Formats: sequence, C-alpha cells, structure tokens
Amino acid sequence: MKSFMPRIEITLSQIQDNARVLTELYGKKGISLMGVTKAVLGEPSIVRAMIEGGVKFIADSRIENIQKMKDAGITTQFVLLRTPLSHAESVVKYADISLNTEIETLKKLSYYATMNSKIHQVIIMVELGDLREGVLPCDLSQFVRKTLSLHYIKIVGIGCNLACYGGVKPDTRNMQKLSELVDSIEKEFHIDLEIISGGNSANYEWYKSDQDIGRINSLRLGESILLGCETQNREAIPDLHTHAFQLIAEVIESKKKPSLPSGEICQDAFGNTPTIQDRGIHQRVIIALGRQDIQLSSLKSKNKLEMLGSSSDHIILDGKNNNLQVGDEVTFDMNYCGLLAAMTSPFIRKKFVNLNELAAA
Ligand SMILES: *Cc1c(COP(=O)(O)O)cnc(C)c1O
Repeated sequence: MKSFMPRIEITLSQIQDNARVLTELYGKKGISLMGVTKAVLGEPSIVRAMIEGGVKFIADSRIENIQKMKDAGITTQFVLLRTPLSHAESVVKYADISLNTEIETLKKLSYYATMNSKIHQVIIMVELGDLREGVLPCDLSQFVRKTLSLHYIKIVGIGCNLACYGGVKPDTRNMQKLSELVDSIEKEFHIDLEIISGGNSANYEWYKSDQDIGRINSLRLGESILLGCETQNREAIPDLHTHAFQLIAEVIESKKKPSLPSGEICQDAFGNTPTIQDRGIHQRVIIALGRQDIQLSSLKSKNKLEMLGSSSDHIILDGKNNNLQVGDEVTFDMNYCGLLAAMTSPFIRKKFVNLNELAAA
C-alpha cells in the first residue's frame, strides 16, 4: 500500500549526523550548541536526534513547543528564544532559560519565579546592528543593573542575533564587540557570564575565517542542523546531509493541454492578473499541494520539474518528458521557510524514516 500523501519524510539518522558533525566542528574552538527546534514545532523524535548528536540545549521560540517536548518526556535544558511577555508564567514553568530585552518582562518573570521559588535564568540580548531584538550597547550596563536587582532572576549570559531582519553578517567586528561587552559587564558587576551566545546558522563563515573567536562559546543552530547549510549564502556545509526532509505529493491530474489560457483574462484566485508564456501543447501535471500548505518559491523539485503556478490547493507543473501518471509521487526539497510551513500544515503527514534501521533490516 502506498504511503499517505502529502507527507514529509524525515530521516532522523541524518539529523543526528548533522548535529554530531556540527557539535564536533564548533567544539574545536570551545563553542557548544543549542539545537533550535521551532521549524519542526519541537517534534520530539527530531529533538531526540539532535540531543543524541550532541547539542547541549534545546531552544525554541514558542513556549507551546517547549511544553510539548517536556510532556513527551525529553529532559534537557530548554531555552525560550523569543522574548516572553504574556507567557511569563508558563515560561517560568517550562523553560530553564529565556532571552530577554525588556525590564517589564523581566519583572513579570521575576514575579512568577518568586511565587514558585524557582530561579529563572536569562540571557540578555544585545542589539549589534541587525535591528531585531536587543538592548542597545549604551544601555546594557543600566539594564544589567536593574536585572540584578530582581529576585529569582539569574543572568547566565549575553547574546546577539544577526542576519535575521537586517541581514547583517556576523563578522570579526560585531563578534569582538560582543566579547568586549561581556568583559566590561563582568568587570563592572563582578559576575561570571557562562553563556556567550554569538548567533545562529549564519555564524558559520565567521567561525571558519576568524582565528580568534573571543568570548563566544555558544551558538543557536536550527537550519544548519536540519537542512545542512549555512545561511549567509545557503551553501551546504561539508559532511552534512542536505536532504533529511523531503516533501512528497501526489499527482491528481496529468494531461496534454495548451499552455495559454483561453478567454478574456481577469484576476486569478489571489488578485493578480497572470501573464503566461505560450509553450504550445504540453503535458500539464497537477499535484495535491497548495498555498495553504506551502509557498511555491520554497520548493525545489527533485526531478527538475518546472513549477508553473499554484492556487490554494493545487500546484501545476510542466510534466515535460517525465511521463507522470495520476497517483505518482513527486518529491521536493524545501528551504527553511518551506520546512516551517510544511511542518505546520495539519494536512501534511510527518513520516519518520531511519536509514540505519532500513540498512540493518
Ligand atoms: C530561529 C532562531 C535561531 C536559529 O536560526 P537558524 O538560522 O535556523 O540557525 C537562533 N536564534 C534565534 C533568536 C532565533 O529566533
């Protein structure tokens, strides 16, 4: 019997391999890893693969995902990546560490931590040019002073996030700046900061090229572990698997048809007026997958099938010489954005495969 479609096939052993290779690579200069699980919604079997591969912490931007992992019996240190506010109570309950940039939020966390007599650990994020979250460097000292006055809140680290909103490269200059801020905060307040979190999958090039990584001793990696690439140029990292996730959808129509619509042209289903290139009569293939599941631009066909367009529930492909029949499977690679969408779609089944087990069977 054929497997359910559409589905994502997830090769857990490859995710584990990726986590292990990256743990060894970054470990050479003393950097340990947080495995970032938001793109897979904290899927427990993927999280276990990351942990077995050697990541030290599990980090997610959604407290619901952390709760799910805990409920599944995963025991590790959990880090909440998005600064919390109205979720403060459950953050104290479920996360060991959270990233923070606002004193109001820290006060709320402190309130619930005090109520539960539980120390909540925080990493303070600093703004180093990318203009997403972060305390401005000139305000950092005062921010730390205020945070230190809160009961049951412990500052365990300082971090920054680049290449997310502004597309700013992690480089020697901004990484050195982070190290200097750490030194000055430690000196001023006589504290030791354990976690210096320098960034994400975009830090690969900096790591490879910079001889001196300064005080950076932690990175938060999602895409590198899951898709095997760095994120400045989306190039594959040597020795990593880049096809651990495959999206497979079903052909529901395959016919020779004209390529040009006939009749007067109005707006399409999404309010655009289409301009369509005439390629004569050709094989048109429709698959049961659509914009409600994933953006066309997030997909890359394994058989180099050209994608002509999509509506809510259909993607239309140029079948060329592939001789695709109704019921056939079409396989795609996804980028990170596609992975995020596909993992979130309730219509796409998640199927775990383990190549080691297959080989052993
Ligand atoms: C999503 C996220 C990451 C992981 O980014 P990748 O590019 O997937 O490695 C790291 N840090 C923060 C704060 C994030 O939100």
